[in-house]
Order: sequence, then C-alpha cells, then structure tokens
Amino acid sequence: MKKKGFNTTNLHSDRKDNPEHGVLHKPVHPSVAYGYEDSHHLAEVFQGKRQGYNYGRQLNPTVTALQKRITQMEDGIATIAFATGMTAISSTLLSLLKEGDHIVSSSFLFGNTNSFFGTLQRLGIEVTFVDATEARFVENAIQKNTKLVFVETIANPATQVADLKAIGQLCQIKNLIYCVDNTMTSPCLFLPKTVGASLIVNSLTKYIGGHGNALGGAITDTGLYDWSGFENIYDTYRNEKTELWGITQIKKKGLRDMGASLGPEAAHHLAVGSETLSLRIEKACNNASVLAKFCHDHPKINQAYYPGLENHPQHQRAKQLFKQFGAIFSVDLVENVDCFEFLNAMETIVSSSNLGDNRTLAIPVAHTIYYEMGAERRASMGISDSMIRFSVGIEEVEDLLADFEKALA
Ligand SMILES: *Cc1c(COP(=O)(O)O)cnc(C)c1O
Repeated sequence: MKKKGFNTTNLHSDRKDNPEHGVLHKPVHPSVAYGYEDSHHLAEVFQGKRQGYNYGRQLNPTVTALQKRITQMEDGIATIAFATGMTAISSTLLSLLKEGDHIVSSSFLFGNTNSFFGTLQRLGIEVTFVDATEARFVENAIQKNTKLVFVETIANPATQVADLKAIGQLCQIKNLIYCVDNTMTSPCLFLPKTVGASLIVNSLTKYIGGHGNALGGAITDTGLYDWSGFENIYDTYRNEKTELWGITQIKKKGLRDMGASLGPEAAHHLAVGSETLSLRIEKACNNASVLAKFCHDHPKINQAYYPGLENHPQHQRAKQLFKQFGAIFSVDLVENVDCFEFLNAMETIVSSSNLGDNRTLAIPVAHTIYYEMGAERRASMGISDSMIRFSVGIEEVEDLLADFEKALA
C-alpha cells in the first residue's frame, strides 16, 4: 500500500487505533493507575509478558498516542515523550552515558543544552565542542571513548547549519550514536533519519505544538543504530529485540527513574497543535524569508542571519537538505542603534523568549537567554551584543514588515 502523506497520516493517527466510542481525538486520560483482570494479569504487565499500562509515570494512553504520531512524523521505530525538550535531552544522555565517556557536540547550541553539557562534564562525561558546520572538525575530536555526537539542524541564534550528512556518514563508520536535535526544522522540513541520525530530539513546545500553550519533548529512535555494539546497555534490557535496547533503556532509566513525564493534558494540546504543523510552518517560513531579505537590504542592519539568504555560509546545504529555510532569523544592528529601543518600537512583534509560536517573537539574545554563559563563550558562538533573534509567526507579513519599518525609522 502506498504510504499516505504527512498530514493525512497525522490527522487520522488516533482514529486508526480504535479509540473509545470512535472519537477522532485520543481522549485525555488522567488516570495514574490501572486495573487488571486479576493479580496474574498485573504481574504479567509488570514483567512485560503482556501489553498494558503499569503506572502513569511511564505510560499513559494519551501520551502513547502522541508518541505514535511523532514516530510516524520522523519515520522512526519508537518515541518516548517527556515533560519538556530539555528533559528529553538530559534524561536520554544521562541514561545512555557513564563516567569516562566522551561526546562531541556542536558548539552552536541551544543555551540550556549548552548548560546541561556543563553538568555532564562535572559528572565525569567529557564534552568536546566543535564547529559542526564542517565534519572534519567533528572527526578530529573523536577519541577512543567517544560514544555520541550531538548536533542541531539549524542552530540558534546565528542559524549555522551543521554538516548533517557528512557527520552522519562519519558516525556510521565510527559506530557512534548520532543524536540530532530537529526542533528548529521539525519533521516537516527535514527528516534526520535521511542523514543517518540514530536518535532525534524534538522540543514539542516549539513548532510541533506551535501554540505556546504546552511544554513537551520527545526522543525518537530511527532504528539505524546497532545497539548490540553499545557497551552501556544494562543486561536486563538486552532481552528485547536489539533495535529496542536503546529506547528501552531511555524509557526505564530516563523516564521511569528520573520521572520527567509528559502529562496527558499537555500531550493532548501538543497532538492537536501538531495537526496544523505543515500549514503553520510553511507560512512562518515564507514570512521569515521576506523579513530576513528586508533586513539584509536595510542600511541600519549590519548583518542578517538566515539560511535562506544567498550569502549565508551554508545556504546551498540548507537548500539541499531542508524543504524550506526555517522560521528563525537573527540580525545585528548597526552600532548606534540600541537593540532595546528597536524592540520597544515594535507594535505587533512581542519581546519574548519562546520560539516556534504562531506569534512573531523577538529577543535580544546576549542580554537574556545567552547572558549566563558569559562574553567569551558568546563570542565563540558568533553572538554579538546587538543581536536580536526573531521567531517568525503566521501573521500577515505586511503587519510584520510595518513593525520593522517603524522600528528602523
Ligand atoms: C527550546 C529548545 C529545546 C528545549 O525545549 P523545551 O521544551 O523548552 O525544554 C531544545 N532544543 C532546541 C533547539 C530548542 O529550541
């Protein structure tokens, strides 16, 4: 049978799973605990001999339905949802790595991921940060104890595009877990599986949810990594099919033991939001293209950072890999324009820290989300003091342009 399209599959996902009363949305199930036919049944569920729900921290029907949608979107084999994108990252790495291991990470990272990698270093897990726009820097950083390579698709805020394909090939040759944070592109613009990703991170809070009304995160296993060669898998999780070893350990050690579970109400919001992902992201990317071009041409803007601009260092790569160029762009204002005054002159665009919302949001990054890391690390990430990041929404582009014209006047 021909595989159905992205939207069709997603929209009919819940219905195809025989939900109660034939409802079209998977209901919100608040129950924390479950009842069984008898005590044997209870024991069999806990021993994994029968399918069933054991406890809300590890499994919930509403969350399971969302996990299935994400798995379908990413063309993976299994997904575990978490309370936030950050805990999807931290619970996954803490469950897979141990003291003495080494990871290679892109130095162009979401600020809190960067902060978490500092925590890993304190726990005795080495992290080497490299410029991941070129695979050779990743290759040079690989050591005997390297277990995993971590990159983002389009980095925040200066929009560097990692050498996703070449790094994927490298990870395959070296037998390393290739973890790709797909938040900025979403499975609508890019499927990390196509470049050999082993694990995919999505902050559901951003484009997938899209409405800025629920937090969530997910980790998807693409089935490409051969877990049989990964020494950190506990013996108890080696009974499963080999392809499920990694996700089982993430579920048991990451979700069950650390307990940052996604709630059913949030899962419902995120699932409903995901139904319009492709419509929203197309519009937001189109708006971002227009605005980035406008800024690129404007004399009061020193530089505009957007993969869709022809002078962007990875423009050709982005064009080849992604369906569109994303809905995030940043600008450096010229020296005598104050970034706070500029933002305060905007009417529609909101000064806010989130991204991937339906509304256009703007933030002076050095003074806020990248403040804690200090000037030196900011400089190494290409973040100037006057840089403003825009997360473009789905408003009419004329209204957004009017804000820029007014603020730059
Ligand atoms: C926001 C974000 C995260 C973290 O997601 P939360 O849901 O806010 O915890 C991780 N990676 C990237 C690229 C993000 O933009």
